[in-house]
Amino acid sequence: MKKLIEPIKIDLGPKALILPGPEPVLNTEGRVVRVSSPDLSGNELRYVTDAVKTGWISSSGSYIKKFEETFSQAVGVSYGVATTSATTALHLAFFVLGIGEGDEVIVPTFTMAAASNMLHHLKAKSVFVDADPETWTIDVKKIEEKITSKTKAIVAIHIYGHASDMDPIIALAKKHDLWLLEDAAEAHGGEYKGKKVGSLSDVSCFSFYGNKIITTGEGGMLLSDNQEIAEKAQIIRDHGFSKQARFIHEYAAFNFRMTNMQAAIGVAQVERFDQLVEKRRHNAALYNEGLKEISGITTPPEDKNVKNVYWVYGILVDKNFGASRDQLRKALADRGIETRSFFVPIHLQPVFYDSSAPDFPVSEMLCERGLYLPQSSAISDEDIQYVIKNIKEIYGKGR
Ligand SMILES: *Cc1c(COP(=O)(O)O)cnc(C)c1O
Repeated sequence: MKKLIEPIKIDLGPKALILPGPEPVLNTEGRVVRVSSPDLSGNELRYVTDAVKTGWISSSGSYIKKFEETFSQAVGVSYGVATTSATTALHLAFFVLGIGEGDEVIVPTFTMAAASNMLHHLKAKSVFVDADPETWTIDVKKIEEKITSKTKAIVAIHIYGHASDMDPIIALAKKHDLWLLEDAAEAHGGEYKGKKVGSLSDVSCFSFYGNKIITTGEGGMLLSDNQEIAEKAQIIRDHGFSKQARFIHEYAAFNFRMTNMQAAIGVAQVERFDQLVEKRRHNAALYNEGLKEISGITTPPEDKNVKNVYWVYGILVDKNFGASRDQLRKALADRGIETRSFFVPIHLQPVFYDSSAPDFPVSEMLCERGLYLPQSSAISDEDIQYVIKNIKEIYGKGR
């Protein structure tokens, strides 16, 4: 009998309590401060118009090459391979690294599920590690105990713009002869010990989705200093067309090609790379200053070795605030301010749930208490002050 795929439904029991509630309805009478909006005020329109006018709308064309070159150069990596998304860049990276059936890959559970979803499709297993309570990135002290004879790779994911603690991760990857990847989808321009994130591993992947620090609408890029990895990625992104004999397929490959129109927007974004990053840091400084005296709110981390690029401005709410995270979100929504709750950790996702798995208390705490405030390269100082003013008012009432 013919049958469609069904969603996976599981009963999380008491853990279901930590799933976030419905998105609050925005008050349209007041102003609506959006949680994110892109800044396309440079040469984006000019270049994309050029791509259309010249007819180079597909995945050949000069903007692709230029985007790959300028973006990889800005990150300090030799080769860039543009893709349709970070998700496909991750898929491509795992595929090129030979990760497949029966392999284990270590990932943080407090993140977005793209890497684990792709591992699932490659029949590899995601092995989860809890978050560090200070930086919200993977807890480096808890990685080694998860390494087995089946482990093939570690994926460091730079959460909300804050780099993972790379030195101990690099040491572990060396010691156990593992591939090291960075999912830098949230951390364009971020730094660890003065080096750009995305340049600290065998392969890194970036996202250019509409809400990311650099955007092409949809899009991604795989970066590597390893020429062989980059060349294989180029072939496998493009149906596996052999460079010597075009219609000979030596890999069961994919089509993950970015269009020249998207790359045109990307080239214009890279021209303003520093400006886009510094604007997010400027916004974070305003929030940090405005919120520092409110008890019960933890502002986002910035470790002394790290330049945080604050892809989002995430805060934690505890009982000293006088209102719960969800009450604060509702009250802000009623004042025309859009927010989002933090990730639901991957180990609590129906697709990956394993009732015999250990607890990940830090990730669950972050999921329960975290929200993020409006933050983007297009937001005004006035809007940020408006958000701060409202949080102060809500704080006053809650006590
Ligand atoms: C946004 C994001 C992705 C997915 O990016 P797409 O370009 O939408 O596929 C992957 N990983 C992380 C950590 C992300 O934040």
